[in-house]
Amino acid sequence: MAIQKVLVTGATGQTGSIVVHKLRERTDRFEVVCFARSAEKAQEKLGSVDGVEIGDVMDRASIDRAIAGCDALVILSSSVLVMKGPPQPGQRPEFEFLPGAYPEDIDYNGQRNLIDAAVAVGVQHIVQVGSMGGTDKNHYLNTLGNGNVLIWKRQAEQYLIDSGIHYTIVRAGGLIDERGGHREILVGKDDSFFIPEQNMPHKLPRADVAEVVVQALLEPNAQNKAFDVVTREEDEALPTSDFAALFAQTTPGL
Ligand code: NAP
Repeated sequence: MAIQKVLVTGATGQTGSIVVHKLRERTDRFEVVCFARSAEKAQEKLGSVDGVEIGDVMDRASIDRAIAGCDALVILSSSVLVMKGPPQPGQRPEFEFLPGAYPEDIDYNGQRNLIDAAVAVGVQHIVQVGSMGGTDKNHYLNTLGNGNVLIWKRQAEQYLIDSGIHYTIVRAGGLIDERGGHREILVGKDDSFFIPEQNMPHKLPRADVAEVVVQALLEPNAQNKAFDVVTREEDEALPTSDFAALFAQTTPGL
């Protein structure tokens, strides 16, 4: 099997850094290029700056430098809410997006930059990680920081599909920092995994999303598919081990 050279954006993020560690373990199948904003954070989160390209999704030239020669792209960069001022006693913290770092910037225009750069150098496959909830324009997550985050992420998904590159769109439920590999992974569509009375999706560990990303790079059956992903609780079912069978349940289109 040929070795795939993979660019991972958001490589110093919580899920992106797990993906990088998993890909680095598979030297028989992957060469990894990490796209990060800060060399210091890359050293801290990834243990080394080898294979790290410093850049920003809003800076096309930096993407072009990083993506040259890559076969695949994993998009795990994302807009990030920050706390608005210091927390006040007795009051709920408020969150905002920093100027130039709204979802329209990072999740739409930034992703368009990544996808356009990938098209320009002939990347074969893009795995894009986003969020469940995009079928509901009035979802409360869209109100946070006045960012319409799910709307912009959904538009970026459509832009990827329209690009003509083989795609795998992974829409995660609520991310938690628990161990991976111990749960059954469920795939679906159209936000069917929302718990109606809470309007919240079922949860899944970031490590399990990272494994889905790695397996999507390996399994042809994951290409040209878009799906929601959640897990059962650890004690509810056997952990997923057959990813070809999992991806066989997924379907093309948004
Ligand atoms: P995260 O830790 O917030 O990571 C986001 C990454 O994006 C960081 O590495 C950040 O860089 C990078 N980034 C931000 N702006 C950038 C820019 N202008 N240029 C380049 N990189 C930039 O993400 P996560 O919590 O692992 O989530 C992964 C994905 O799952 C996201 O798309 C998120 O929306 C989605 N999701 C989250 C949840 C949840 O419960 N939190 C649920 C479902 C889906 P730095 O490392 O330099 O900050």
